[in-house]
Amino acid sequence: MKKIAFFCIPAHGHTNPMLPVAAELVKRGNTVRFYSFGAFEDKIKATGADFVSCDAFLPALTEREEAGLKKVSATEMTIQDIRITLRMDGFLEEEFGTFRPDVVYTDSVCFWGKLNAWKHQVPMVVSTSTFAFNQLSSQYMRNSPREWADMLLGLPKVSGELKKLAPYGYPVKGALSLIQSDNRTDTVVYTSKRFQPYAESFSDHYAFVGPSLFANDVSAKAKTRPLVYVSLGTVINDRPDFYTKCVEALRNQNVDVIISCGNATDLGALGALSENTRVYPYVDQLDLLAKANVFITHCGMNSVSESLYMAVPMVLYPQTNEQKAVARRVAEMKAGTVLSDDSVGGIRRSVLEVLNNAAYGSAAEACAADFRSCAGAAGAAAFIENAPHESNGIDPIAELRKASARFSVVYWGIAIALILLTGFLAGWKYIWLIGAAAGILAHPIGKAMQKRNYKRGIRT
Ligand code: UDP
Repeated sequence: MKKIAFFCIPAHGHTNPMLPVAAELVKRGNTVRFYSFGAFEDKIKATGADFVSCDAFLPALTEREEAGLKKVSATEMTIQDIRITLRMDGFLEEEFGTFRPDVVYTDSVCFWGKLNAWKHQVPMVVSTSTFAFNQLSSQYMRNSPREWADMLLGLPKVSGELKKLAPYGYPVKGALSLIQSDNRTDTVVYTSKRFQPYAESFSDHYAFVGPSLFANDVSAKAKTRPLVYVSLGTVINDRPDFYTKCVEALRNQNVDVIISCGNATDLGALGALSENTRVYPYVDQLDLLAKANVFITHCGMNSVSESLYMAVPMVLYPQTNEQKAVARRVAEMKAGTVLSDDSVGGIRRSVLEVLNNAAYGSAAEACAADFRSCAGAAGAAAFIENAPHESNGIDPIAELRKASARFSVVYWGIAIALILLTGFLAGWKYIWLIGAAAGILAHPIGKAMQKRNYKRGIRT
């Protein structure tokens, strides 16, 4: 029996998959103390875990900071994460001294959980509510110019805030070391190896346990009219324009429509609803997905996992780079279509395409079978109980790096030889052209070689 401290940021998408894990650990006789926030108190207490409120440590936000968080700005989130860590320092010092956890189970972007596990040298397991991202799988994320600008312009501010951690005894090299998945840290990922991009590039410190949810069986789908469920999740969901277009798109169609619009959306702004549509600020999503035939989703990892678990094909409408990565994977699995045209006509066409083409449903069913064969919350619980884990010592990413370094030596060796040859044979006037071409091609060729090495060496 162990004492396990859970830490998570105040977000549904990050907290939800940790709940079945907490319930499972409690059921097995462990003591779970869950450090979280008032909005999640009831859900956490229902798992049998002890709830510890951390609301007092949330800093008051300026309007600008609040707007940044709403837009999921990486810079703003990192800064607030560090601020909360500093505000919690004295409190957690005391908690670690009195509770003395055997294991820390912390969300991957919850700095105060990670940093305190390191500082107090308690074995740590990381909970990853999206894909595990390393240098290969992160290629699925394509940052928009706005996201690049946010990160680059925010760098000086972030490094200023990071420096404040050292005097409190928190060992931090950089923001990336706090966020990125590495092959030395025990990590739970709530997806299957089949669904995780580049799954074989992760070491045996990773447990791909599949979706962690309080699952219902797939209940019978509507026999009369198909049900279309629409949700943009719990963070960026104040989109009355989009919901109105969904209502219009499906107004005269032979379908029922349920929209979860979030608490921030003014229901009045949606105008007159059609007879086949109902709108709620929040719904029991799993229950709805058990009945739904198609899901128009923002592609949050939890929503997509829940949808596939319930074998519901999707219309994919991602907003952030992370959601775009998830959407791309669903599209690769052929379990959904990307909504590239979000006009009324475009929405209607995409919904009908998914409803009328059985291939999407079959692909979603294949994903459901795969997810249901995973270890789930029970697997995560066992992994946490047995932490820290011994490794077989194989780090696929380190192997790939070595292969890339070897390739670079050969590549530049050939490039230099070509330059010299051209110089001797045709004169030195144009050798810079070869140098420039070699420089430009080095990156894409290097990437292609890395993918080839992954496929040849690691996957087999
Ligand atoms: N959710 C829910 N009811 C709603 C909307 C969302 O229960 O009306 C849950 C959903 O089941 C999922 C989570 O909220 O577990 C949303 O997480 P996700 O990662 O999909 O998106 P985020 O909200 O983090 O953008």
